[in-house]
Amino acid sequence: QKAEWNKLKNEASVTADGKHYTVAANIGTPKDLTGVLDNGAEAIGLYRTEFLYMDSAELPTEDDQFEAYKAVIEGMNGKPVVIRTMDIGGDKHLPYLPLPEEMNPFLGYRAIRISLDRQEIFRTQLRALLRASNYGKLRIMFPMIGTLPEFRQAKAIFEEEKSKMVAAGKPVSDDIQLGMMMEVPAAAILADQFAKEVDFFSIGTNDLIQYTMAADRGNEHVSYLYQPYNPSILRLVKKIIDSAHHEGKWAGMCGEAAGDPIMVPLLLGMGLDEYSMSATSVLKVRSLMKRLSTADMKALSDKAVNELTTNDDVADMVKKATNQ
Ligand code: PEP
Ligand code: MG
Repeated sequence: QKAEWNKLKNEASVTADGKHYTVAANIGTPKDLTGVLDNGAEAIGLYRTEFLYMDSAELPTEDDQFEAYKAVIEGMNGKPVVIRTMDIGGDKHLPYLPLPEEMNPFLGYRAIRISLDRQEIFRTQLRALLRASNYGKLRIMFPMIGTLPEFRQAKAIFEEEKSKMVAAGKPVSDDIQLGMMMEVPAAAILADQFAKEVDFFSIGTNDLIQYTMAADRGNEHVSYLYQPYNPSILRLVKKIIDSAHHEGKWAGMCGEAAGDPIMVPLLLGMGLDEYSMSATSVLKVRSLMKRLSTADMKALSDKAVNELTTNDDVADMVKKATNQ
């Protein structure tokens, strides 16, 4: 099987009925680039920049960050790279950035909430990203956006830093898309409104499932409630994709579900554009896509979204229909 998959390394990701999609990889550091290239990913759909902050003894400087982002963007040779701004907080802490003691860290001071509050940290990161934009195809996204004012403020700060650099005569790419993670249910419910203002969505199922099901993603006592195929989740995912498409934008997924063989058929049925996963899953998913037809998958996802009632019923239906 491995040998079969390897033949797909330099091929496009095409379904049995000839539709093209993007199979991308998630990374945590520039070192992960080798795995991305070895597995023939067509893009980087999520670069989790918080590891840059976690692997450092103090806040990484603009130059440190620039070098890391440049290495990744340049290494991808013109293929798109989605870089997510710092997602600290929740379970990720920095020794040099004391965060408040919280009763519910996953519902607390985290990600874009910190960036908008501690703007010097955010602006440094944005300047590093702007400088790196000259080396390829950069897309920037913000984590944990829950309201439109948060997205607007993040975008305004980005535009401010960009204008300052342009005014100073420094080169900046004029093709940087600005998007957001879709991982907070409040944002997913208003996806139609967000879609008018973003360039793209990337669905973060790890958190979207946790927050929608009210079940801690790392707590084994409630893991039975962590249900990727629950029709409630599927309805949100479909709404996000439909909303993006209605405004002529694209939608990707970068949570674990994007590389899950039960989820992929449903996502094809909903027309998801980009599937971003750990590099080791890329060829397996490309091979799965090759034998699925989007028309059939659409019937499957419509039934899952409109008629079925449980996680297990959806999983059983997909397994049967796709011979898994
Ligand atoms: C997610 O929430 O699905 C996601 C991709 O982000 P992280 O796992 O880094 O929270
Ligand atoms: Mg997340």
